[in-house]
Amino acid sequence: MYELQDVSKCYGATQALHPLSLSLPTGRTTVLLGPSGCGKSTLLRLLNGLLPCDTGRVLFDGKPLPTGGDALLAVRHRVGYALQGGGLFPHLTGEENVTLMASHLRWPAAKTRERLEALVELTRFPTDALARYPSQLSGGQRQRVALMRALMLDPDVLLLDEPLGALDPLVRHELQGDLRGIFARLRKTVVLVTHDLAEAGFLGDSILLMREGRVVQQGRLADLEARP
Ligand code: ADP
Ligand code: ADP
Repeated sequence: MYELQDVSKCYGATQALHPLSLSLPTGRTTVLLGPSGCGKSTLLRLLNGLLPCDTGRVLFDGKPLPTGGDALLAVRHRVGYALQGGGLFPHLTGEENVTLMASHLRWPAAKTRERLEALVELTRFPTDALARYPSQLSGGQRQRVALMRALMLDPDVLLLDEPLGALDPLVRHELQGDLRGIFARLRKTVVLVTHDLAEAGFLGDSILLMREGRVVQQGRLADLEARP
């Protein structure tokens, strides 16, 4: 699904990503793991073209990621993205947040409703909370709304930036279990950012261990831990 060839990114004098080449397996969950500031979010944002790379290129389905226009929009529709903290619009209800893209695309109401119902079931979101605004939802519910929104157009790829950050441990534990079930059921290409080692091992088929803008190890948790 994704192949990165010599991709790098600077912000001014900060080299957020050193030149990097790798491919991400289709239909599996890859976790970007590493401390704050190591370039996880930057790498994630390169994957949906939200951020252009300085050097190299990102191949999506064998073709270079378009840099703009309708072609990039078409890719975005195939790549669901939930940013850190969920990124929900505060002035829209949970339901409106989830169905925003469908409205833009002028989906018929029945199709939107059917998709929403499927997502509510998938994410075990309480139906009666759909009419609430983000500020009226719990942290876990907000993350479920962000997940539903990212999945609304049934994308091939799901990019999740710290979907479990800032949740209390019990909620986090429950959502981790749910996410694992959802990933197994959907079999999409998932890329998930976390700085929690146990969480990476629990959710990831493969882990990219990052440090200071580089991928320093790649593999399953057991493989990573086996090395000094
Ligand atoms: P992570 O997601 O692992 O915390 P980021 O990809 O957000 O890391 O950031 C990588 C590096 O790039 C950090 O040093 C960060 O301070 C810097 N950085 C990220 N975004 C910007 C930006 N918009 N402008 C300037 N520096 C940035
Ligand atoms: P944290 O310390 O990040 O808050 P938790 O205490 O919630 O993490 O969970 C500890 C670890 O238990 C998780 O990182 C994960 O590896 C594992 N875990 C989470 N949910 C489940 C689950 N439903 N079934 C089995 N193991 C789980």
